[in-house]
Amino acid sequence: MPVFGCSNCSSLISLSLIPGGNPAAEGDEFARNWRICDRCGSLLCEECAPASETQCNCGGLLNEPDSDTRMKLYFPKCESLEDLPPSLRRLTTKRERMEKLNEQWERGILARGEYDAYKSILEASA
Ligand SMILES: [Zn+2]
Ligand SMILES: [Zn+2]
Repeated sequence: MPVFGCSNCSSLISLSLIPGGNPAAEGDEFARNWRICDRCGSLLCEECAPASETQCNCGGLLNEPDSDTRMKLYFPKCESLEDLPPSLRRLTTKRERMEKLNEQWERGILARGEYDAYKSILEASA
């Protein structure tokens, strides 16, 4: 589970794909709710950006992160074979990689979004 810091204070932001936050991220140091600026990309916890605050210091708008935004932050760049994890990258053929990916999925070590992202890269590859 990737963890980011609030752009303004020391709060941690747990970037869960589960709406409402990852249940594993309990504790005061984690911000349950946070927003992201559509211009500078700052992540702000609810303390630094209360719901009444709609504008970032840069003038951009603070938005609730939707699932697309979360997904992009979660998998910042997942577009080419280079972005595959080393366990898949070191295999040579598409078939081997698919098999390995499915095996990892079955073992439950991949998040659904992660599996889908890697799979679409592999499917698009030669
Ligand atoms: Zn903060
Ligand atoms: Zn901003």
